[in-house]
Amino acid sequence: MTTAASPSPPSDTDADLVAGPGADQASDAAAPRTRGVRRIGRLLTLLRPHRGRFALATTALLLGAGIGLVYPQAVRFAIDEGVGGGSRAVMHQVGIGLIVLFLLQAGLTWFRHYLMSWLGERAVADMRRKVFDSLLLQDATFYHSRRTGELVGRLAGDVAIVEGVVGSELSMAMRHSVQLVGGLVLLFVENAKLALVMLTVIPPLTVAVVLFGRRIRVMSRAVQDRLAETNARVQESLGAITTVQAFGREAYESAAYGDTVEHAFDDSLRLARWRASFMSVATLSGFIAIGLIVWLGGLMVADGELSAGSLTAFMLYTGVVAVALGSLVGIWAALQRAAGATERLFALVDLVPRIREPETSQPLPESNKARGAVSFEGVSYRYPSRPDQPVLVDVTLDVAPGTSVALVGPSGAGKTTLTALVPRFYDVDAGAVRVGGVDVRALTLHDLRDLIAIVPQEPVLFSGTIAENIAYGREGVTQEQVEAAARDANAHDFILGFPDGYATLVGERGVQLSGGQRQRVAIARAIAKDPRILILDEATSSLDAESEALVQAALERLMKGRTTLVIAHRLSTVRNADRICVLEGGRLVEDGTHDELMARGGVYSRLVLHQLS
Ligand code: ADP
Repeated sequence: MTTAASPSPPSDTDADLVAGPGADQASDAAAPRTRGVRRIGRLLTLLRPHRGRFALATTALLLGAGIGLVYPQAVRFAIDEGVGGGSRAVMHQVGIGLIVLFLLQAGLTWFRHYLMSWLGERAVADMRRKVFDSLLLQDATFYHSRRTGELVGRLAGDVAIVEGVVGSELSMAMRHSVQLVGGLVLLFVENAKLALVMLTVIPPLTVAVVLFGRRIRVMSRAVQDRLAETNARVQESLGAITTVQAFGREAYESAAYGDTVEHAFDDSLRLARWRASFMSVATLSGFIAIGLIVWLGGLMVADGELSAGSLTAFMLYTGVVAVALGSLVGIWAALQRAAGATERLFALVDLVPRIREPETSQPLPESNKARGAVSFEGVSYRYPSRPDQPVLVDVTLDVAPGTSVALVGPSGAGKTTLTALVPRFYDVDAGAVRVGGVDVRALTLHDLRDLIAIVPQEPVLFSGTIAENIAYGREGVTQEQVEAAARDANAHDFILGFPDGYATLVGERGVQLSGGQRQRVAIARAIAKDPRILILDEATSSLDAESEALVQAALERLMKGRTTLVIAHRLSTVRNADRICVLEGGRLVEDGTHDELMARGGVYSRLVLHQLS
């Protein structure tokens, strides 16, 4: 899972690639087609491990395309020799021969189509996983600046586009290319003069392809962006459905969603108009070519310059070429569309995480106790999204192993941010954070985060059983350990109160736990992880007294012997902490025990008096 190999330093440009439609299009205008095509090429590199299959599929493809090119010769033979020469034997031979040939071709088509689809689906499946894995490595600030719904929509929508193209269109493109080239060559072999006449329709057609193709690509991208926006809206509204309903904003949400949907509809229609024009121009060219051939070819047959069989073969080749050209044009448009989607997907794959593994890591101290030491040395931090606002300024704080520090201070003082620096959710701008005496940036993320458990204000439970949720923090936790942790967290009794006990499903598909119960499951999860360092964000929402006492007791058990940073909201927690640190405006302004700080009569004593009153 090391990401140290990433070549370039993290920068905002990496992130900008997926920042949104605006950024996307601006950069795209500079290097229009080449990059898209290169991305498609890169998509093909995903097929590299499956070379064998690819070779097989290509062989089937070439054989099938070859048969498509051979049969007009048989038809010519039948007409000139069989029909012209009045030979029934020749007709039998040709008839049977053609049926055998077509059966063979049918088999080859199946084989090619299946193999190519296999390759395409494989590439897309790999792509999905790569994108998701890359997203998993991104740090918190990445997610602050993006809507999850949009990312999810992009992932689903773009992958679907690429899937359609790579799955079948690429294979068709190859077959049609072979038939196009082969068909053209054979047209000239059959009759160069007629072939030249027919080719007069190619240049205008090419111009149309280029012009329409470019336009269609730009519009497809607009449609994709709209759809991503639509998805983000749904996610946001449904994610906060109770808020929406509580404030009676259904009509507003409906109108806002309706708006984006209608925009997407309009864009799709515009795209459809261009596609339709494109199709009719392409079809027209094909039929004009056929008209010309019937006209001139007929005259040539009448003049004895051409046999009837050759004219028929020529018409068949024209058909092959026209179908190939028409399909290639359609496929080209689809490839253009896929190029945009591929580009966005690779932009996600290529994201360089801001928080990366060290080039060379340092080990943690041997002693388990020493590993619990946490220190902040002259730490300063600003969020990248608000570079003008210092959030932490020169904070220096040593927390001895096994002791607890309560962080207090007004909301927005920087308490949450300070604790988030320990597991490296962010990296300091200046100074250093040390764990066990080692700079956190020199530890592997695994070593570092293995030491830490976090109990957030509003714990997140995954859909799954209660036992799975408790075991989530550490691999290989046994059922006994889960139950022991739940007992310590005062959760065992209420869990057994459910008919399915530890196997009770929670979250979206299962029972909803109360705030206090969720807290205790989260505490059990932390206990099961058995961390050296604990980060607690105390719930502000008032639990009922009984629940609070249970949670409090569980927390005290959890904290015993571990280094604890607690963002404290309750006076009782603060009193019990070994030490109290008061943050204000990102600075550490007071530091001491409850009694010391009360005696001093500073910020802390005012906070306490305020809370008591
Ligand atoms: P506390 O936990 O003490 O309430 P925080 O650490 O949450 O304070 O926030 C400290 C400051 O950082 C606040 O001014 C807040 O607005 C700002 N802040 C918090 N999160 C972000 C973010 N993701 N992007 C930009 N600013 C942030």
